[in-house]
Parts: sequence; C-alpha cells; structure tokens
Amino acid sequence: MTSLAKRMVRWLVFLFLSAPVFADGPHISLVVDATDAPRKILHAQMQIPASPGTLTLYYPKWIPGEHGPTGPIEGLTGLRFTANGQILNWRRDLQDGWTFHVEVPAGAAVVNASLDCVSPAGREGRIGSPGGVNMTDKMMVLVWNTVLLYPAGPASDELTYDASLRLPPGWKFGTPLPVASQSGGEIKFKAASLTTLVDSPVIAGEYLRVEPLAENPHVEMDIAADSPGALEAPAEDFQHYRDMVVQARMMFGAEHYRDYHFLYSLSDHVAHGGLEHHESNDSRVAERAMVDPEARLLRAGLLTHEYVHSWNGKYRRPADLTTPDYEKPMQDDLLWVYEGLTSYLGDVLSGRSGLRTPEEFRDALAQIAADLDHRPGRSWRNLQDTADGVPAMQGAPKEWVSWRRELDYYDEDVLNWLWVDTIIRQQTQGKKSMDDFCHLFHGGQSGPPEVKTYTFDDVVNALNEIAPYDWRGFWTARLQSHGPAPLDGIARSGWKLVYDETRSAEVKATEEKNKNINAEYSIGLTLETDGRIVDTIEGMPAAAAGIGPGMTVAAVNGRRFSADVLRDALRAGKSSPQPLELLIENTEYFKTFRLDYHGGERYPHLVRDESKPDVMSEIIKPR
Ligand SMILES: [Zn+2]
Repeated sequence: MTSLAKRMVRWLVFLFLSAPVFADGPHISLVVDATDAPRKILHAQMQIPASPGTLTLYYPKWIPGEHGPTGPIEGLTGLRFTANGQILNWRRDLQDGWTFHVEVPAGAAVVNASLDCVSPAGREGRIGSPGGVNMTDKMMVLVWNTVLLYPAGPASDELTYDASLRLPPGWKFGTPLPVASQSGGEIKFKAASLTTLVDSPVIAGEYLRVEPLAENPHVEMDIAADSPGALEAPAEDFQHYRDMVVQARMMFGAEHYRDYHFLYSLSDHVAHGGLEHHESNDSRVAERAMVDPEARLLRAGLLTHEYVHSWNGKYRRPADLTTPDYEKPMQDDLLWVYEGLTSYLGDVLSGRSGLRTPEEFRDALAQIAADLDHRPGRSWRNLQDTADGVPAMQGAPKEWVSWRRELDYYDEDVLNWLWVDTIIRQQTQGKKSMDDFCHLFHGGQSGPPEVKTYTFDDVVNALNEIAPYDWRGFWTARLQSHGPAPLDGIARSGWKLVYDETRSAEVKATEEKNKNINAEYSIGLTLETDGRIVDTIEGMPAAAAGIGPGMTVAAVNGRRFSADVLRDALRAGKSSPQPLELLIENTEYFKTFRLDYHGGERYPHLVRDESKPDVMSEIIKPR
C-alpha cells in the first residue's frame, strides 16, 4: 500500500470509530412520566417494532454491577399492550418470570406497551436488592432498567432507545446521558443504545446542587437531598473530591468516559449503597451525611470505590460477567478482581485524596482485618466460593454471617491486593507498585466508554509483566485457602494488627450506623442496641456457652441490658473471678448463661512494626 492509501484507510477507520455507532437493530421509543414519583410510582409508554406472531419481551433481570438476578420484577405493574387500537393478549413465561410473550395480530408493525414501576413503601432496602426505594417526596433516581422492556434477540448494544422523561414541576436533574432538548419539566435525550441507557441513571429533585470537580474530561457531582440544608457541605469536602479525581488520573493514567457524574443522593428514605456505571455512579447515603462531621467517616470510601469502578469493572470487565443482554446469567468467579481490587484501590484513593486521614485509613483496614480474623466459616467455605455463590447467596440475612461468610471478596481482597502491592514493591526493589499495574491494566488511550474483557490468565500475565512472580500460585492459594485471614500485606507494609480496649472512631461510627454493639472480638457477639443478637461466632465464649443468633439479651450480671451495662460488665470481668452472667430470652423462654470470660473489651488497631519500613504510609501518600 502507498502511504497515501494508508493515510486514507487510517482516516476512514478514524471516521468509523469516532461516529456514534447505532446498529441496524430496532429503534424503540420510551416516554417516562415521573410526575407521580412522590407517590412512588412511575409510568412509562413504549413503542416497540413488531411483526405478527409472538413477540417475546424481557424485563431486565441480571443488572450490571449487581452481579445477580435482581431486576425488581415485583415492581412491574399496570402492564398493557395494544396494536392498531386493539388490546393484546400476553402471558408470562412459565420458566422465567421476567419474560413476557405478547400475541401480535396480523397487520401490526408496532406494539404499544404501557407499564408502571412501583417502589416499595416504608422499607428502604439497599441498592442492588430487588425493590430498593428510589423515590421520596423531594427527589428520585431514575434507574432506566426498572421502567422498560426490550425485545428478545438483539444484544443490548444493538437496540436503540429514544427516551424522554417528564419530571415533577420545579425539579432539576443531573445525568451522564446526553440531552437532545429540554422544555419545562420535559427532557428528550439523544438516541442511545440500551446498554448506554441502562448505564446512565438520572438523579432529580427539588433541591439539587451541581458541583464541578474537573475539566477535560468534565467531572461533576449532582447532589440531590431531602432538604436544602443537607447540601451545605464544608468547602474542604469538595476539595477532597477534586483531589480524588486528580489522584485517580495519576493512578490509572487515562479516563474511559466522555464526562463523569457523581449522582449522590442524601436521603434517609431511599435504599443506601452505591452502584457503579461507566460515566457515573448512583451513590446514596443518609440525608445529613455531608453536614454531620460524625457521618463523614461512614461515607469516606463510598465515592472512591464507585469511581474506581469506571476503570475496574466497567472498562476492564471479567469476560463471563460481560453478557450480551440482561437475560443471560452472569458468572461471578472473578469478583475478587472486579470488587476486591476496586475496594483496595478505592481505599487507597480515600487516603491519597484526604477523604481519610492516615489514621482513619488504618482504622478502617484494622476493622476489615479483625472481622476476617473472626470468620470461622473459612473452615468450610473458601474465598472463591464467596464470589461464585453470589447469585444464590447475596440476599442472605445478617444472622450467622461469621459461619456462613458473606460477600467476603470485597474486604478480604483489600488485604490480598495490599499483599500483592507489597510483593510488587519488594520484587522490583521499590521501583514499581500497584500503580504500574493500574497503568498497564486500566490505562491505555483515554476516550469514550468501551469494554475490554479479561480472564484469570490475563490478570496473572499483567502482574507478571510488572513483576515476575508466581502469581498463579499466589492467587490460587488465596482463593482456595481454608487457613487464617491474610494479614501478610499489613505485616509486610510495616504494621501489626492488635486489639485493645479503646474503640476507634471507625468502630464507633460503624456501630452507630448499624445500630449495633460490637462485642465480636471479646465474647464473639454482635447485638442490636435493644439486645437482639445478630451473630455469635462459633467457638468463641458466647457460642460455646450455648447462645445463638435471634436470641435477646435481657440482662447482664442481673441488670437490665444496655450497651453501657454490657461494656461495663466486660471491663469489670477483668478483675473479677465471677463469670459474665447473661439472662437471655429465646423463643419466649428465659435462661441464664454463664461465660467464664475475663479478657475485657477488645477492639482492633494497627500499630507500627519498627523493624520494617513504613510502606503503608507510602502507599496512601498523595502522588
Ligand atoms: Zn463495587
């Protein structure tokens, strides 16, 4: 080829890649009326191209980022189909409750669908659980997959949606979804693939604050709250978030979004938690979380985690989590990278951006390490199974958590990836670190969203490119081990996990948020503030004495139970030969249990090991 021909080919390839790509698949129109959001009901109208015969439609079931079949099907109501003015018969699939078969009559080319999405009233749930609440009197998050159907057959990339949205009067909004036009409370969005639509929620409300964080590419926070006062966060908070964007850029070396929106809900009446998207995240915390200083710690790692997902989870995604539509089951075996590495990098970013002080960073790590250090369930269930089992197990109750184990691939892999970071540093004599891995694995060319899939082997190979080591053996051992919690990363970074009688701010804040009392590391007991037992740790004094989850502590050493009475009794037991006496109610029967425990209160901290360099402080230093 001549150089001119080469240039022309390059130019054509450039044109092709830079033009918005819409496949020839069906165009579907979707009109969402959110004016009834305060009543917790959304109305939607759709026009779906069809031909005579059976039209099979799906309600999105396997939701990206939720790792399970959590599409809130019980909220889909008011379903009606018409064509050419005729009401159509439909039937739900007998083997899959998210699938509908509609009888399309001769001569019909379009099916009109109308549907409602109702949100549970009076129980908030959490993001990622079916039926988490998205609406209050003053605000909402529009999660597109809750208000639409899509035809079976084409991939979600091949379906084009022309979406519009009507908001309650006076409500403002923020979203990464490009807007075509806007008049009054009516917003028309530019045509987008179903993939992009589902990946681009809209936050809206009467009280909305937009705070720019960065330019080129543009990053902003769109914060909706249940009251105007909740938006009055201190200025230094936003400086930390600006620093987070700068530090993330240095961590990864490139961005994979056109622009990025932190959709941040401040409300006590929506489902809490965070859900990642490519160009945004939908994160929800308590109404006063930005103005109450004591609430700050509890949200310090949330936005950094969800932001990291734009690179790790969205841009780089496990191959078997990358499905063509929302009907094909996802496989969760690589969540130790998708979620575990995100948790580690998000925590590191919380330190580098100043959202956590070094001490707060260490206290959060100590809490993670202590919890995993008290997980007898490790003896039957390895870390790999905590990921593999997600679709079946993610709705498990809190009771028996230490024996069942929970979504431990989040926290345990914070410890494992810290360990990896210290190995890379050691193998390269301090020349390389996880930052180099992130540049290699998540960096590349900046640009609009794309997905690059990976397998276990790709992770091992990328680690080997940064620092040759037996990474396959390392991760196989970590994932399949039934041994103790992996504390080597803490030790190798110059710190030690210890227990003393002082509650860290992290432990206090976690107790306050969960409205519980942490006596896990002393007598192996987690209780709610009214004495109801959430968990007992197998083999520790409470369980060994015969106490179990679901029972209620009525009295401690003869006095009515309260958090202070229990803590006082634990302290007093250190210098008393008497056993700790718990009067317990179990299914209407009262019984006294005696625990021969004299170890006092025990709470986790990290202390410096002066025999080693302080690598941890190096890791969380701003770049
Ligand atoms: Zn996550």
